[in-house]
Amino acid sequence: MQLYYLPVHELHTMLAKRQISAEELCRAFFERIDSVEEKLKAYVTLTRENALEQAREIDRRIAGGEQISPLGGIPVAVKDNLCTEGVRTTCSSKILYNFVPPYSATVIKKLNAAGAVILGKTNMDEFAMGSSTENSGFFPTNNPWDPERVPGGSSGGSAVAVAAGEAAAALGSDTGGSIRQPAALCGVVGLKPTYGAVSRFGLVAFASSLDQIGPLTRDVTDCALVMNVIAGHDPLDSTSAPGQAPDYTGYLKNDVRGLKIGVPKEYMGEGISPAVKQVIERALATLATLGAEIEETSLPHSEYALPAYYLIAPAEASSNLARYDGVRYGYRAEGAADVVEMFMRTRSLGFGPEVKRRIMLGTYALSAGYYDAYYLKALKVRTLIKQDFDRAFARYDVLLSPTTPSPAFKKGEKMADPLQMYMSDICTLAVNLAGLPGISVPAGFVDGLPVGMQLIGKPFDEGTLLRVAYTFEQNTDYHKARPGI
Ligand code: GLN
Repeated sequence: MQLYYLPVHELHTMLAKRQISAEELCRAFFERIDSVEEKLKAYVTLTRENALEQAREIDRRIAGGEQISPLGGIPVAVKDNLCTEGVRTTCSSKILYNFVPPYSATVIKKLNAAGAVILGKTNMDEFAMGSSTENSGFFPTNNPWDPERVPGGSSGGSAVAVAAGEAAAALGSDTGGSIRQPAALCGVVGLKPTYGAVSRFGLVAFASSLDQIGPLTRDVTDCALVMNVIAGHDPLDSTSAPGQAPDYTGYLKNDVRGLKIGVPKEYMGEGISPAVKQVIERALATLATLGAEIEETSLPHSEYALPAYYLIAPAEASSNLARYDGVRYGYRAEGAADVVEMFMRTRSLGFGPEVKRRIMLGTYALSAGYYDAYYLKALKVRTLIKQDFDRAFARYDVLLSPTTPSPAFKKGEKMADPLQMYMSDICTLAVNLAGLPGISVPAGFVDGLPVGMQLIGKPFDEGTLLRVAYTFEQNTDYHKARPGI
C-alpha cells in the first residue's frame, strides 16, 4: 500500500527503524495533497514550511539516538477551529478569514510536544454548524468515495484528509456529531470523547456545554494513540476533568466475550435507511459470534434529542458568537456611519446564512417570555435524555447504533431544507446532550459508500468503546478499504 495510506502505527515503525525519514514522509504527504486536493478541497490552509521544519527537527532527534513518541514525525491535519499560534484560524468563516491567533490550543501544544507534523488546517462548516461542510464560508469539500457527494460535517475536511491520504490522522470537534458523522461518511474512525476528557482551551467555541475535540484516524489503534496525546486535565479549561488520562492503548484487546451490548430500538427504526440497518445487523451478528451478548433496549426520549439540541446549541452559539463585532477579531465592514452600523454590517456580511439562522434561533429561545417555554424546557428534556442513558448503562456495557441514517448524500441535496440537514445527526446528537463518549467505526458499504457503526459508552469509559471497536476491526476488513481517488 502507498505510504500515505498507512496507519500511524505502521508509519511510526518505519520512522523508528529509519526506513524512511520524517522529512521524506512529510514530502510524500504534500505530494499526495498536491495530486488530489483540487478534486477534494480538504484544506483551508497548508503549512508546508512549518511542517518541513518540524519534520527535520524530528529527524535530527532520531539521528541523535532519541526514541520518538508514537506521533513523532507523523503528518497530521487539524480542523480550522483549533487555534494555532501564528497560523490563520478561520472556522471557515469570512468573519475570521484573516484571524491569526496569538496562542495555540492545548491540543495543538500537545501535538507539537509529541513531535507530530501539522500539515495544515482543514475545511469545516462555518463555526462547525452543519453536517456536510457545504456551509463553509469558502468552498465545499468533496467526498473521496464519490466527489459528487458530501463528506459529512462539520469536520468534513479532517475526515477527507484522513480518508484520502492527505494526512495520517486528524483532529476534529464534535458538538452534535461533527466527528462521528463525517468519519462514518468517509470510512474512517472518529471518536468524540466524554465531555471534559480533552481540553477545549483554544477551540473556538460553538456550544460550550456540548463541544469536544477528538481524533479522526484510519483505525482504532491510531485513535488510541492520538487520545494518549490529547487527553488529560488542563488547568486552562475549567470544564476539563481532573486526574490523569489512562493509557488508551491498554484497551486494545481482541475480546468481547461476555460484554453486554444494548441496541436502542429508536436508532434502528423510522428514518434509518434499510440498507444501513442491514449493515448494522450484520455487524451485530459478527459481534455476537465473537461472544458479545446483544439485546434490544430503549431510549424513550430519543425523539426529543433533535429539538432539544436545536434550542440548546443555538442558544449557546448566540452568546458565544456575540464577540464577533468587527472590533476584536477578524473582519470589519467598511464605510459605516457609526459604531452600531459597523456592528450590523460586519455581522451581516461576515456570517453565512446557517450561522445567522442559529444566532436568531438562539437569541429567540433565550429572550424574555420565551426562555421558560424553549430554553428551560430543552434543558429539562436534556436531563430526561441523560436519565435514559443512565438506565441503559445500568444494564449494558455499551450501546450500538448506526452513526448516520444514510450513507453520504449528494451535494446540494439538503441545502434548501435545514431540517433535512439537521436529521443527518439524529443518531449522534443525544450523545453530546448526555456528555458521553461515542465512536464511529467503518462497518460496511452500501453502493460503494462507507457506512459507520456508532458505539456509545459510559462517561470516561472510552476504554470499552476502544475494546469493542478494536475487536470488530480485527475481525473485519472494512477499515482497510481505500477510496480509488
Ligand atoms: N450538525 C450539527 C449542527 O449543525 C452538529 C455540528 C457539530 O457537531 N459541530 O449543529
